[in-house]
Amino acid sequence: MPPTAAEEAEKGDRPAAAFRTDEFRTGRSQIVGPDTPESPFPIALAGQVQKGFGRGGKDLGCPTANLPDESITPISSVAKTGVYYGYAQVIPLEDNTDLRQEDIQVLPMVMSLGWNPFYKNKCLTAEIHVMHDFKTDFYGFEMRALVLGYIRPELDYTSREALIEDIEVDKRVALNCLERPRYQAYANDPHFSLRSRLVVL
Ligand code: ADP
Ligand code: MG
Repeated sequence: MPPTAAEEAEKGDRPAAAFRTDEFRTGRSQIVGPDTPESPFPIALAGQVQKGFGRGGKDLGCPTANLPDESITPISSVAKTGVYYGYAQVIPLEDNTDLRQEDIQVLPMVMSLGWNPFYKNKCLTAEIHVMHDFKTDFYGFEMRALVLGYIRPELDYTSREALIEDIEVDKRVALNCLERPRYQAYANDPHFSLRSRLVVL
């Protein structure tokens, strides 16, 4: 068993991510994992969307909603770092919101669980890209997610093009994976809701 993200965080000096190679790209499958989610999945996450460090999510065509540190434990304590897929939902805190009905549905997502370069790679972050065209930002809103499977390890990139290309493949793989009925069923899981548990102060 590879170490969980939390175990790696304890060690302090962790190995650098492998470099992304052309063999990795050309060898990528379009669908991964078993036909039914297996332990430790599904993993439920919930938290208030935080401002990140603008490390290029939107510039890469892939904005990522950052989850607060304390909301990461359910995954970092059982899983390694890398790219995952599942479902997510944005839940407004108040009734008056700019989000449209289609924005608050349960939607497919890809998530990266990785090391935050801003903190010299000592802190873990979980960032979720929802595969949906939101017309507005939703900082401060509650996000709920069910992580259903693992796509690939964290990699280091020598070019921006290679990174963008891999993200595009990740999104396609995630959609293919979620089309399987046993995965699709989780879109109706009671973890999702139209009411936030967060208290508006
Ligand atoms: P930051 O560094 O603040 O996380 P990003 O460039 O990663 O900046 O943008 C993330 C923000 O973009 C989210 O917090 C959310 O408000 C907004 N956003 C818009 N569309 C999406 C989407 N499809 N998936 C995730 N976040 C999105
Ligand atoms: Mg982000």
